[in-house]
Amino acid sequence: MGRVLIIGAGGVGTVVAHKVAQNADIFTDIMIASRTKSKCDAIVNAIGNPNIKTAQVDADNVEELVALFNDFKPEMVINVALPYQDLTIMEACLKAGVNYLDTANYEPKDEAHFEYSWQWAYKKRFEEAGLTAILGCGFDPGVSGVFTAYAAKHYFDEMEYLDIVDCNAGDHHKAFATNFNPEINIREITQNGRYWKNGEWITTKPLEIHQDITYPNIGPRDSYLLFHEELESLVKNFPTIKRARFWMTFGQEYLTHLRVIQNIGMASIEPINYNGQEIVPLQFLKAVLPNPQDLGENYEGETSIGCRIRGLKDGKERTYYVYNNCSHRAAYEETGMQGVSYTTGVPAMIGAMMFFKGEWKRPGVWNVEEFNPDPFMEQLNKQGLPWHEEFDNNLEL
Ligand code: NDP
Repeated sequence: MGRVLIIGAGGVGTVVAHKVAQNADIFTDIMIASRTKSKCDAIVNAIGNPNIKTAQVDADNVEELVALFNDFKPEMVINVALPYQDLTIMEACLKAGVNYLDTANYEPKDEAHFEYSWQWAYKKRFEEAGLTAILGCGFDPGVSGVFTAYAAKHYFDEMEYLDIVDCNAGDHHKAFATNFNPEINIREITQNGRYWKNGEWITTKPLEIHQDITYPNIGPRDSYLLFHEELESLVKNFPTIKRARFWMTFGQEYLTHLRVIQNIGMASIEPINYNGQEIVPLQFLKAVLPNPQDLGENYEGETSIGCRIRGLKDGKERTYYVYNNCSHRAAYEETGMQGVSYTTGVPAMIGAMMFFKGEWKRPGVWNVEEFNPDPFMEQLNKQGLPWHEEFDNNLEL
């Protein structure tokens, strides 16, 4: 018997709800709660299961959350609202005795800066309460950490070089759109890049380093070095890693739009006064850009995300590449959402399933790579994100 509460009814929340509903043997009681209840109701209609409950909640408000948790009594909350809500939801989980899972680390609203320290600081409190918190359980972070843990467990004595490679070779036929929440997405990409080398972080200018990387079934794509949150936990949990980097593809059209948006001040998170009302330019921009939830219908092509690892096994150098390719169309046909929401929502459901099966149930606050990767990898193949491996090929990186 698994009572689960999904918070957030965006693209990712929609996929989580579909996948949770498909696994009724594990998730016996389901509620979707978000700021706008009508969006939760629309998801339930699309799934066609009237037993799924819905509710309105402001996840910035701890007391409101606690009241909802005490009413529905979930065993676990799957937080797929925005990173701004992570701490309030964790706080409410402690107050009401609920386990926690999310897909993105905490970010303060007024500072485009993300790191795990804020959430890791909850470790002792979750431990003492006997509650499990699973952090970063989407694709990247999420499957990228599980792939790395799987490589460490089965194929390497020492991992030395890790490159996470994320390609979206899809076409949504819009001049400019982001694949998940535009505010979070633009904040992430316009920051300085950062990677790990020989025990320290090296900072680069935004999108300064790029190179062609060849993706399976897709071909070469210009890929840009970004900082991504899982690098922080992976180099801590696998200290033999000498260099860890994260790469993501962007098309020229996307980058040109992004440059213009920045140059005209629309990427700013500083509030301005407009006609007597305070607005944040980036939040206003979000309101006029296409909604990532509506991109699915005409989305063609696929994503390809994986880990390329070089290290030692039995004294010999070895390379390993593990990846998943996901078709936007197949994701849309199954859930009504595009591939980026799908590749995030499916692992979030699997993480919750791992908790309910007792595989990933351990009081404290954990990143996904700290758990046994094997049952999760098995479920990826069953739940729509099959993975493939290549050994001792040229990693290009
Ligand atoms: P959306 O913007 O589509 O959805 C966010 C949802 O959260 C909306 O339904 C929104 O409500 C709701 N929400 C926002 N603020 C509050 C609040 N204060 N109280 C209650 N509900 C709130 O985002 P996505 O679905 O694209 O992304 C969801 C999460 O997934 C994000 O944290 C994102 O960073 C993460 N992500 C992780 C990835 C990974 O691989 N790890 C990849 C992609 C995304 P409303 O509808 O009213 O606006």
